Amino acid sequence: YKIIVGLGSCGIAAGGNKVYEAFKEVVGKSDVPVTLDETGCMGMCYKEVLVEVIDPDGKSMIYGEVTPEKANKIFESHVIEGKPVVEWIVKADDMQTSEDSFFNKQMRIVLRRCGAINPESIDEAIAMDAYKAIEKAIKTMTPEQVIEEVLNSGLRGRGGAGFPTGMKWKFARASEGTKKYIVCNADEGDPGAFMDRSVLEGDPHAVIEGMMIAGYAIGADEGYIYARAEYPLAIKRLKIAIKAAEERGLLGKNILGTDFNFKIKIKEGAGAFVCGEETALLASIEGKRGMPRMRPPFPAVKGLFDKPTNINNVETYANVPYIILNGASEFAKYGTEKSKGTKVFALAGKIAKGGLVEVPMGIPLKEIIYDIGGGTSSGKKFKAVQMGGPSGGCIPADLIDTIIDYDSVNQTGAIMGSGGMVVMDEDNCMVDIARFFLTFTQKESCGKCTFCRIGTKRMLEILERITKGEGKEGDIELLEELCENIKKNSLCGLGQTAPNPVLTTLKYFRHEYEAHIRDKK
Ligand code: SF4
Repeated sequence: YKIIVGLGSCGIAAGGNKVYEAFKEVVGKSDVPVTLDETGCMGMCYKEVLVEVIDPDGKSMIYGEVTPEKANKIFESHVIEGKPVVEWIVKADDMQTSEDSFFNKQMRIVLRRCGAINPESIDEAIAMDAYKAIEKAIKTMTPEQVIEEVLNSGLRGRGGAGFPTGMKWKFARASEGTKKYIVCNADEGDPGAFMDRSVLEGDPHAVIEGMMIAGYAIGADEGYIYARAEYPLAIKRLKIAIKAAEERGLLGKNILGTDFNFKIKIKEGAGAFVCGEETALLASIEGKRGMPRMRPPFPAVKGLFDKPTNINNVETYANVPYIILNGASEFAKYGTEKSKGTKVFALAGKIAKGGLVEVPMGIPLKEIIYDIGGGTSSGKKFKAVQMGGPSGGCIPADLIDTIIDYDSVNQTGAIMGSGGMVVMDEDNCMVDIARFFLTFTQKESCGKCTFCRIGTKRMLEILERITKGEGKEGDIELLEELCENIKKNSLCGLGQTAPNPVLTTLKYFRHEYEAHIRDKK
């Protein structure tokens, strides 16, 4: 038997370490040969602690909401007596469970190894194809062919903006200079978002390999992963993965016996949201204060330490090995015409089945909320979903048939963003939601430009008085004017998108603003 305990941050927060210890104790006392292992997030965060039991025939069953007491019973009944505890099983190879709907509409490319391997074991990653794509790239493809493959796949940046990844690589390759850098943006900071953290905790090798392929493609020999220090488990597992890859000759000099050299360093960020903006992120790696600067020059021309630099986020890099190994067309068969592949979302807020999901682009929002997420956790009417965090906007229940791709989501006024989805039910006040997100962006404004620094402050004051029942006639118009000016005149994405939650709630829920002002509550 093999027993695998889910020890991503979600599993640990639910008590996974105690469950692991409970299994360790009973396994230690038993004569039955059992391998006890750990893995990252399996996706069903709402059922943590999750434990997979694989029997000697290779049949898998996953138990949900496991406690140390349940661990003893599972061991006794399933492992010793060969009788699985059916009522606690949430997913199994050979039986239907109530939770199957959570997975039925998902497609795992980025998360292909998350929850399936021990992220601290390079052998388990290699057994599931890790580092095969870099081998294929450096031994059988030219850098130009690699870029062509990524271009043909249609992969677009998963950090939010959706710029074609292959195009970005092409620009960086074309830039003059012998020293170039690869940077991975792992500065995930949106409230409600945990996609990047879960990928790094569950399969750090996918990101490392994606960066290596990008390095080979643009001609870089050095990469930085900028990860926020609030992600200690992700950083720990990344460090272990980098060291193991170096020891195997998969990172460092003369990789796999070729003349390709690549090393990766980790830079821990101090948690400023603005450092997710690429020029601020680069400044922070250089040891300067993390503040955005004007573009151009773009990082592809003048980036880290003034050298040509390619920046993508965690999810973008994690897609790359799949594309190189399986071919662009295999990837491009998922998705819509202009948005290929899959997208990882963190389902949070008032959703019955909160967790980490990966869906093919083109899926209707409705299917994510109801078929995968099981509707609202309260059982009350679904009201809206905030997509794209504080830079995004609310999509109301009326637009629940919106399909998930960059263009369709943009049309609603929200943005795809990096993948946070915060679900709200009929009890949520949408003015309050806008105030919440604006409080966040206002605090995180770096202060460099006036419209963002002072404009968001004035907006927040208006939202605060409206939600306190002290709103005045003319407040909504003033808010709208401020929104337009802040959008137009801010230097970076943080300021340019800060008004989005207000604009979308005004667009779809204006009557709630008016009611606060009219009824003085
Ligand atoms: Fe800083 Fe805001 Fe200006 Fe961006 S828009 S540079 S966060 S003040």
